This record gives sequence, structure tokens and C-alpha cells, in this order.
Amino acid sequence: MDLVDVPASTRQLDEHEHLDVPHRLIAAPRPLEVGQVVVLRDLDGRHRWAAVDRLRFTETDTVYEMQLGHPMPLERAVEVGAYESRRMARPFVRVPDVHRMLDGMRDQRARALVLGGARLLPVAPLRVYTCGITPYAVTHVGHAATFVWADVLASVARAAGAQPVLARNVTDVDDVLTAAAARAGEPYDELAVVQEFQFDRDMTALSVARPAQSPHARGHVPAVVRLAAALLDAGAAYEHEGHVYFDGSSVPVAPGLDEETALRLSREYGDQDSVPGRRSPFDVAVWRPSGEDQPAWPSPWGWGRPGWHAECAAMAAASLGHAIDVLVGGVDLAFPHHAYQAAMVEAATGVAPFARATMHVGEVRLGGEKMAKSTGNLVLVSDLLERFPGPVLRLGLLHRPVGEAWECTDEVFVEAGALLDRLHEAAGPPSGRTEDPQGRASVLAALLAGLDVPAAVEVALDTGGDAVGYLLDVLRLRERAV
Ligand SMILES: [Zn+2]
Repeated sequence: MDLVDVPASTRQLDEHEHLDVPHRLIAAPRPLEVGQVVVLRDLDGRHRWAAVDRLRFTETDTVYEMQLGHPMPLERAVEVGAYESRRMARPFVRVPDVHRMLDGMRDQRARALVLGGARLLPVAPLRVYTCGITPYAVTHVGHAATFVWADVLASVARAAGAQPVLARNVTDVDDVLTAAAARAGEPYDELAVVQEFQFDRDMTALSVARPAQSPHARGHVPAVVRLAAALLDAGAAYEHEGHVYFDGSSVPVAPGLDEETALRLSREYGDQDSVPGRRSPFDVAVWRPSGEDQPAWPSPWGWGRPGWHAECAAMAAASLGHAIDVLVGGVDLAFPHHAYQAAMVEAATGVAPFARATMHVGEVRLGGEKMAKSTGNLVLVSDLLERFPGPVLRLGLLHRPVGEAWECTDEVFVEAGALLDRLHEAAGPPSGRTEDPQGRASVLAALLAGLDVPAAVEVALDTGGDAVGYLLDVLRLRERAV
């Protein structure tokens, strides 16, 4: 006969040594395995669960030692039944972990990440798509800010118990890239690979984790072709001499833009260039024919290449599915890029909204003007890294409201360096710290409320010790540049 050896205790088990309390043996009708979760029923018909901790063999029996997941009057247990067949991911659950799980459950209300009014609960994987780089020139601070914020979004979500899944694309099919490669006398794909390598190095120095997925436009041309076909099928697009145009006449309406502003913004992003046969000035190319010196792929509409918004729409859907939780990018991407990306996926799938929340990172300015590669008005991350450590740059980018525009000066990073020193001092040496759950909860609550880093810093400094260490960990400010 198999026996189940369970501690006969009615007390809350919060220490491992409570296993030493008297045990009683009850029969298990079939063999169990270590790590298996079983359900026990007591005389009152109540069910409690326990995990098989250890097997012991006697001459006649296999004895299973159990760890209880919940207080239970086991002297009244009458049988082991209703086995849960699912195995735990870990070999077994220790009792203190169970209490931590229960604490987390009590705390659940405080643990939703709130972004722009959307409550993102840590239930399903948190799907985050960040519009990445067009790899034709080195990374400037404006770009870096977006990717550092996306990294912190993931880290805060993880601290709240969510499972973030990040995708950050590389737009390695783009007319700007093609033109830059032509000027440099290099094949466009070679230029892209070199620039991407340097970008990755900058991101590593800023402690930005590699996203789980890194879709490249060059690998997603067939996905754009499928998107174009789906849009045609849905009546949301039309063909004209090798072009497939998305009907975007209503896209500016959603963000409440007047026609003049919408036209000006779309012109800035090239949406008004070479668009023969278009019905509305707000229609954009999902697919377009390529000239002699442009990369081209076969499609049902002839040789050509994808439009920019369609590339991101296809890459996001292919990487994360037909709807996502957070769409991330610089504030200048809100319109037209993100608006079209979302509208295309929604029109193709019928699922809306495409993104439950957006996180638009504030504009970085230099001399009062927007920092941009196209105008050459920029500060390179690699130049700043020669003067400031990565964690200092990171804190300089983060110590502000996420959506606010700011001027990039040396002073920002000098101040961030002083603040980081203060934080390290307030945290004290990691070895001497005892965990402060209340302090941690206050820091996390500030971060969950729209990623309010300045508020979280203030809370941490007021609390001191472990709360500050926790903040440094969640904001990933400890790591050294590699
Ligand atoms: Zn994009």
C-alpha cells in the first residue's frame, strides 16, 4: 500500500521546520511523484492542496512526505483524492513561497501597470512592441530614450508579476537606408548590419536587455504581402499600377487631428511622396513598385517593396499576434506611423484596438529643436558614453515624466550622476540589508502609476535602505557597462 505522510497540524505553516510536527499516514490509492500537487479532503469535506516533497521507501510501503500549501486540520483528513495531474514547474513548493504567492494575491489591485488610463494586469503575457531603428546611422539620445523606457516598462511589469514579451523591430528595408547606403557606396544590407551592431553595443552600455523578438523588415516581406492581400480582401485597400494603397481617409480622425496638421505630419514622414493614383491624401502604400536602384521582392502586384507603416504592422502582428498590450515609440511616431500601423492591423483582422495602450516617449531636444538624424541636430550615445557611465545616462533619460519633452544638456547627466550617488549611498551595502516589503511595495506602486520614476525615487529616498536597493534593481541601474 502507498502511504501519504502528512503533518498533523492545524497551524499556519510558515517555516520549513514545521515539517517536524506529528505526521499521520493515510492511504494513497495510486503512486505519486515528487513535485506532484495533490488535493486532500478532510472529514468536513473541505479540500486543501499539498505538494509531494520526498519519497521514502519502507519494506512494504512507499511513503510520500507532503508539504502543505495551506493550513489544514489534518487529523481530520480522511483520504487523498482528486489528484491534480499537472506537475509544478519547480520540483516542489516550499511553504514560504506559498505565503509569498498568497501575499501577492492580496496585493493584486495595486499591481496593475496603469499607462494612459489602461490597466494592464499581470495575468496574460504583456505584449510590447517598440518601433525600433532604421539602421543607417549611429544611435542618438532621442532613440536611446525610447528603448531605455521600453526596457523599464518591461522591468516594472516583471516586478509586478507580469510576463512581458518584447518585440523591437529593425527597419532594414527603407528608402532612407537605401539612399544612405548609395551615398556611402555600400550595399544597403551591409550598412544595416554594421549599424545594427553598433546600436546593440550602445544598448548594452545602457543596460537595455535584448528583446525576446527582433523582427527585421527584410525577413518580413512575405508578411507584408499577406497583410496587403488581407486588406484587399477586407475592402480596406485598392490596387493601382503595382501599388496597394491602404484606405486611410479616416485615420487622422481617430487622434482628433485637423486635416492641415495631419497633412503636415504625414508629409514629414514621406507619406506624400510618389503616390500616383491615390484616392485620398491620407491613403498610404502597403506595397509599391521599386525603382532600378531600390531593393525589390516579387508580389502578386509585381516586383516592389513594402511601405513603412505596413512593415511595422506586419512585423508586430507576426511577432506578437493580432493585438498587443503596449505600442511604444517616440512621441513623433504617434501620427502618422502608429496610427496607420494600428489601423492596418485592425482593418485586416477586425480586432480592435490593436494596442490596448501606447507609450509615447517625450521628444529630446538640442538647442530647442527636436533631435533628429535627418537634420544632424543630435548627440550620439557613444559620445556621451565616453564621458558618463551607462547607468548615469540611463537615469538621466528616466528621471522625468515619460512623455515630457526635454532639452539634452550635460547638466542633465551631471545631475543624474549626483542623484545616482545619493541612491547608492541611501541603499547601503547589499549584504547588510534586510528586506522591507512595505518600502518595496511603495516604490513599485509609484512605478506602476504611469512609470513615475521621479515619484519612485522620492519614495525610495524617504524610505532608505532596501527600498532604494529595490528601486535600483527594478530600474536596472546597478549594471556596469560591458
Ligand atoms: Zn514602427
